[in-house]
Amino acid sequence: MTADGPTPPEAGDRGKSPDPELLPKKFEQVADRVYRLRGDLQGAMNIYFVVGPDGEVVQFDAGTRIMLKNNRKVAEAFGGIDRIVLGHAHADHRGTAPRLGPPVYCHPAEVADAESEAAINSYMNLRELEYMKPRLVYPVMMRLWNGGAVKVAGTVEEGDDVAGFEVIHFPGHAPGLIGLWRESDGVALVSDTIYLVDSARLKPLPEGEASVPHPAWAWDHRQAKESVRKLAALKPQKVFAGHDDRLEGDDLTATLLAAADRY
Ligand SMILES: [Zn+2]
Repeated sequence: MTADGPTPPEAGDRGKSPDPELLPKKFEQVADRVYRLRGDLQGAMNIYFVVGPDGEVVQFDAGTRIMLKNNRKVAEAFGGIDRIVLGHAHADHRGTAPRLGPPVYCHPAEVADAESEAAINSYMNLRELEYMKPRLVYPVMMRLWNGGAVKVAGTVEEGDDVAGFEVIHFPGHAPGLIGLWRESDGVALVSDTIYLVDSARLKPLPEGEASVPHPAWAWDHRQAKESVRKLAALKPQKVFAGHDDRLEGDDLTATLLAAADRY
């Protein structure tokens, strides 16, 4: 919600909101025209749904394979999803996309990985994880999360409009990682540009803290840090990540700059 209350319906707005009778648990509205489904791994995997000014329903990210059943319930509750836009193509962000039905879009630099069957991307180096347990557990989990290759219908790039949000390129963790940014109320959906969990120790970060993802996952860790600084420069007020809940506050600059320096 903005300080002025919900956005009034505009011309052509289908006024779309999901039918509460059909919704699964762990589904909630998190901002004006923005909804979230949590699932898998203690609800740490997030799929977002955005309703555009013209009524277009866009799904942002696609969680893990096991979330397909609940993802289908949400699609039904909305009366259909018009398209899926992947924040990036990692196994835990594309899981439901191959079988849900709507056309799938991503950044051009993410197409090859989205269309590959591989659960673990070629640039990842899980041996860089400091602790033994995550090093052993992640390869197993990533194969479980993986829904397989996605057929990409089209691409979106920085500056494109997606359901009233602007596409922002945040490369580093993945080459074509993108976020959705709405300047009017400072809402940013950022996929894995930041983590609110400590992936190297498999536990949440302290409340209100964030981190650049661990270099073990990174396509280019130096660029991943720059992308966190790029996010800080937008001066977001609500940052919704791919995992865990959110960062919220009038000035998140210090939090995000500290996050960029974490690894
Ligand atoms: Zn990722």
